[in-house]
Amino acid sequence: MPRGCATMRLMGRDKSKYDLIVIGAGPSGMMAAGRAADLGARVLILEKKKRYGKKLLLTGGGRCNITNAEFDVRAFLEHFPESKQFLYSTFSKFSAKDTFTFFEKKGLPLVVEGRKRAFPETQNAEDVLRVMREYINKNGVEVKTGVRVASLEAKDGKVMSVKTSKDAEYFADNFAIATGGLAAPETGSTGDGFNMLEKLGHTIVPPTPNIVPLTTDESWVHNLSGLTLSFMTIRFIQKGKAKVKKTGKILFTHFGVSGPLILNAAREVVKLLEKGKVTASIDMFPDTQENELDRRILNLFDKNKNKLVRNVLPGVLHEALSEVVLKFPYINLFDREVNSVTKEERKRLVKKIKNLTFEITGTLGFDKAVITDGGVPPEEVNFKNMSSKIYPNLYLLGDILNTNRPSGGFSLQLCWTTGWVAGTDAGTHLETKSPSGIMEQI
Ligand SMILES: Cc1cc2nc3c(=O)[nH]c(=O)nc-3n(C[C@H](O)[C@H](O)[C@H](O)COP(=O)(O)OP(=O)(O)OC[C@H]3O[C@@H](n4cnc5c(N)ncnc54)[C@H](O)[C@@H]3O)c2cc1C
Repeated sequence: MPRGCATMRLMGRDKSKYDLIVIGAGPSGMMAAGRAADLGARVLILEKKKRYGKKLLLTGGGRCNITNAEFDVRAFLEHFPESKQFLYSTFSKFSAKDTFTFFEKKGLPLVVEGRKRAFPETQNAEDVLRVMREYINKNGVEVKTGVRVASLEAKDGKVMSVKTSKDAEYFADNFAIATGGLAAPETGSTGDGFNMLEKLGHTIVPPTPNIVPLTTDESWVHNLSGLTLSFMTIRFIQKGKAKVKKTGKILFTHFGVSGPLILNAAREVVKLLEKGKVTASIDMFPDTQENELDRRILNLFDKNKNKLVRNVLPGVLHEALSEVVLKFPYINLFDREVNSVTKEERKRLVKKIKNLTFEITGTLGFDKAVITDGGVPPEEVNFKNMSSKIYPNLYLLGDILNTNRPSGGFSLQLCWTTGWVAGTDAGTHLETKSPSGIMEQI
């Protein structure tokens, strides 16, 4: 829309009323606000924190895994197992490819790394925040920081205004709730949106931490802190049955285990923990049968009969892990010479290497979670424009939605997509939704 046209519209508007009020200046809120304003809407962002974009700066370890370069929408949505059927039309309007174009046009080209993860070429999340800030500023979005929205006031199936914790009231034709979930609450996302929506009659699927490290009390795990092992298989076992199985890289930490494999298994493990005890079992040689591994170790032992087992085993197993395994009480081979090891003891060692178990005690919680599992169920959202099915003038964006997805740039893409689609809708229907339409018809 030509700028002059947008100005004409503004002239006819009730100055105290906005076309769109966005609650929360995270990625989804900024995208919605910038897009609507670019189309000529009068937009206000209300942000609780004094400085906004805090979580965005943490993303991708400060490098911002901005999207996933899977450009086929259906293939992209395979990563949203429970909501893909709802999201197709939304993502067709603004896909990962559009994210590439959006940021490239604003002078921030993206580069692709393993698992199709895309990052800004500058490898700096600050640049992503800068681009988004420029996008809202350039389009004239008004931003009030340090303002916590306390409630949404609704009448006859329509949201009329928002009230702040200091009792100020702001009016608009449309509202967008972009307050995030509960992950990394120090960044501002403390679940306010869930509470406000629940009061309005929306269902909120109880939030639990997702994409989150797992904890254990086993000290040998803690002692391996910093060790990363590739091509391991981990099984999560409940009542003797392997319920979840993943293969990839595991990172040992001073509290338990982490790394993409663990983070992406966390949701299922959390659900198992709700039902009872969960034991993790690591197979360090997932592609090697027990008898084959036994043969390899026997070979190694045959060549090093007079050496200490602890000096020989690192020939097949990482040194730090060898030490841990050999010191287990029921293995107890750390101080033994190879020639003293019996066949039974060797077999026990092989079994241990293929089944290294420890009990999972929980997760690091919302403080260390990347996203929240839970929130507004897809059934209550009109995905054509991201509006609430209960309040058609209320958009629901980003982490507020109950949309399970893995790490790899999928969460931010959900924000860019939902923000863009809502912003487009709010900015496109100004004539019918705002009093300014009268002016424009004249
Ligand atoms: C450590 C970490 C790393 C991550 N890395 C990646 C990554 O590399 N790639 C990826 O795709 N995803 C990543 N994520 C996930 C991603 O950051 C989130 O999915 C995304 O930020 C969600 O955006 P949002 O707009 O929904 O909400 P948020 O970013 O959570 O923003 C919500 C905003 O709303 C404000 N707010 C809350 N309540 C109120 C209120 N009552 N009134 C006014 N304002 C309010 C908050 O202060 C905040 O500014 C990461 C998350 C974390 C925690």
